[in-house]
Amino acid sequence: MTLAAAVVLIATATSAVAQSRAIYQQTQYKGQEIGKLTGDVYYARMDEYLSVFMVTPDGIVLVEPIGTEFATWLKGELASRFKVPVKFVIYSHHHWDHGSGAAVFADTARIIGHEAMIARLAMPPASTPLPQNVRAQDANGNGRIEQGEAQANLQTQFTLYDQDRDGALSGAEVTRGPLVFVRPPDLTYRDPITITLGGKRVEVLPKPTAHADDNTIVRFVDGSGVLFASDWITVQRVPFGGDVATKPELALVKTVEPLEFEFFVCSHGMLGKKSDVVSNIRYREELREAVAKAIGAGQTLEQAQASVTMDAYKNWEFYAQQRPGNVAGTYRALKAGN
Ligand SMILES: [Zn+2]
Repeated sequence: MTLAAAVVLIATATSAVAQSRAIYQQTQYKGQEIGKLTGDVYYARMDEYLSVFMVTPDGIVLVEPIGTEFATWLKGELASRFKVPVKFVIYSHHHWDHGSGAAVFADTARIIGHEAMIARLAMPPASTPLPQNVRAQDANGNGRIEQGEAQANLQTQFTLYDQDRDGALSGAEVTRGPLVFVRPPDLTYRDPITITLGGKRVEVLPKPTAHADDNTIVRFVDGSGVLFASDWITVQRVPFGGDVATKPELALVKTVEPLEFEFFVCSHGMLGKKSDVVSNIRYREELREAVAKAIGAGQTLEQAQASVTMDAYKNWEFYAQQRPGNVAGTYRALKAGN
């Protein structure tokens, strides 16, 4: 083996290790598998995470690449099962645990993302100081976090932050985030676009949210009826964060209901149907109504968190963890007129 070949092998191994399944969110969903949804549309799972793809005689349209290790596995599976190349990869948003690994498909695919993704992937100026919340990790006080100093996320995701691979994280690298393996899109869009491959249409729809201003949802149209949305609309799972029932968020989420589809896939958890999307919207509406009632009755935030129990959703995943934050965010939003 030549030295160059050996170096390439090491680099490949490093990037695979960098995004091993273990650094991703872990839940009760386990395993790596491909399964059919309907027609020519399939899902692919890596533990908690889900992607979707459509197979045509002219090639494959894929949404989330998820990560370098998963994308490498998936590429091999797609080649041996379907014998056509991936022609398009569509990003849902820039976050590392969904957008990493598209480079694996770059030899045959065009990579599509919302135009707001470009700014999210850009490296801030070199003069950017370490963010306040990680400055304590800079034990030697040189303004950078060396591998030996890194703790928590900066430790487990060190290679995902270290863009220039110099073994230390600058303020700019920490500020940008763990995005080393998120390849910038080849093609950006702002208004809805439709991709046609093998005579079948795929709609790429912009839905900028509080979670991600580059959020994209994807609707597989002909002979399928599958909608994919990452993070934003979850299946029998309480939505994450506080901004789940603000006026703009409710208005945006309700634009999904009239779309025509039968199967729904969120990037996390269990597979769903359209009724799951409707339930997710109803949860948000009922939450807003209940919190408004609590405010009307003169309840404090703490009282509202205790009284707004959303009992009909007690069996949803993350109920215990997310309900209090949902109530708090909605309480603050209503008080602020949002
Ligand atoms: Zn995300």
